Amino acid sequence: IDSSNPENSVENSEAAGGKTPALIAREVKRRRTFGIISHPDAGKTTLTEKLLLFSGAIQMAGTVKARKSGRHATSDWMEIEKQRGISVASSVMQFEFRDHIINLLDTPGHQDFSEDTYRVLTAVDSALMVIDAAKGVEAQTIKLLDVCRMRNTPIVTFMNKLDRECRDPLELLDELESVLKIQCAPVTWPIGMGKNFRGVYHLLRDEILLFRAGEESADQSFEVIKGIDNPRLQEMFPLEMDQLRMEVELVNGASHPFDLEEFLAGVQTPVFFGSAINNFGVREILSALVDWAPAPRGRDATVRVVEPTEQPFTGFVFKIQANMDPAHRDRIAFLRVCSGRFERGMKVKHLRLGREVKVSSVVTFMASSREQVEEAYAGDIIGLPNHGNMQIGDSFSEGEALTFTGIPYFAPDFFRQVRIRNPLKIKQLHKGLQQLGEEGAVQVFKPVQGGELVLGAVGVLQFEVVASRLMNEYGVDAVFEGTSISSARWVSSDDKKSLVDFEAALGHNVAYDAAGNMAYLATSGVNLRLTQERWPKLQFHATREHA
Ligand code: GDP
Repeated sequence: IDSSNPENSVENSEAAGGKTPALIAREVKRRRTFGIISHPDAGKTTLTEKLLLFSGAIQMAGTVKARKSGRHATSDWMEIEKQRGISVASSVMQFEFRDHIINLLDTPGHQDFSEDTYRVLTAVDSALMVIDAAKGVEAQTIKLLDVCRMRNTPIVTFMNKLDRECRDPLELLDELESVLKIQCAPVTWPIGMGKNFRGVYHLLRDEILLFRAGEESADQSFEVIKGIDNPRLQEMFPLEMDQLRMEVELVNGASHPFDLEEFLAGVQTPVFFGSAINNFGVREILSALVDWAPAPRGRDATVRVVEPTEQPFTGFVFKIQANMDPAHRDRIAFLRVCSGRFERGMKVKHLRLGREVKVSSVVTFMASSREQVEEAYAGDIIGLPNHGNMQIGDSFSEGEALTFTGIPYFAPDFFRQVRIRNPLKIKQLHKGLQQLGEEGAVQVFKPVQGGELVLGAVGVLQFEVVASRLMNEYGVDAVFEGTSISSARWVSSDDKKSLVDFEAALGHNVAYDAAGNMAYLATSGVNLRLTQERWPKLQFHATREHA
């Protein structure tokens, strides 16, 4: 890690030229923003912690987990998370490695919170896919990879848990290629596994990295032996080396050589083998992210593509989270910077509201604490205090009217009607649901006719979180009941009259979501199809973008 080099320190560059295009370009170039995608239990939390250890952001293993459980203990609604041992909340960690600024966006692994994960993935430039090598490709991996593919996000793959009995590595690659439809370029190759795990062979560097178990210190280094034909290796592991040479020959013949362009296009993934819990292979992953993963690139907005090195600041909100810090009882809007330089206290324009806001108490997310942001560049995530006026997908700029596109909402698959035990609390209920709807914790639909609100979710656990938060944060004891609704579609049309007629004719099943978009709540697949046929001038959408 070379953070001692004064050339690279931010203070120095500021003194040298201030807000110059050159400074912005340099800061953008050294940023890497990525998320980890994995099926629960593959080792995401463990790997996150090791990445932070390597970067020096934390000193001790166990910190990430401890932090998580610390949050459980102090935050009521997180009880659910604790009970189920899953991670509801995502967070952001920024750290330095080899003079690069790395932003790691954490994602909830449980599929019931996948909506949140999908949106987090719109804010990353690359993704790290963690696979349990004993299990191979699992359900959640497939879904998340599909989301990455929407934007051709480059993927680095880590095959984890080689210290256990795993599946045959060639078979694993084959599965990745056939199930995930992504080319694999092995970069390291395992030598043995389980009790006989000896290390990995680096195919590009022709080096062998020897495995040693159970180390948890930050700057642990593993012994490196140069050259696959090194006689020392033959002496040490005669059996494994014969096997390795055979496999390497196979791999070289059968798999794709690593190709940076293909990786950047999202077509090919470099594959690393290792063991997160033993710190083994983690440095290689970090190096791959620094050396190969893309710095922030241009982002699509209405009107035009915004380049990260443009001087004016722009960004969009991809996530809103409540109770980040129970001591504050606050909500924070997570904004990804897309261009320019953000400075504390600067005035930015909230483009949906057409209003200028002065953002002074902005936080960044260092691995160990929240800190005030002095400045931020494309790829960085900053947290804006949200007093109920920000929604997911909101864009900010220094004045230019544009909206970043591609932040999805997915049509919910599960529905509940809300009733409250105490009718005097109706106002609080509406306020709570409005806010939770804006946060994306649940989708809230208000039917045009008939009083009761309908909640929609992508996973049923979302309802439990909402019920618990309504109780704890708004003092509302809500009862969720089943409904006859089976699917929802957002409705749009250029023909305004058709929309009006549609609403008048089907008022019980036409509803508006928290952002004011019209939706059709269908009672069955047949009902949806018939309605679509009867209203040919309307379009029915299974996803909507924030606009
Ligand atoms: P997550 O659900 O993806 O965040 O997974 P965790 O990081 O919580 O890991 C799930 C389980 O796998 C935990 O019991 C870890 O200790 C274990 N685990 C993680 N990495 C390794 C590894 O490299 N080897 C072995 N044997 N176990 C691991």
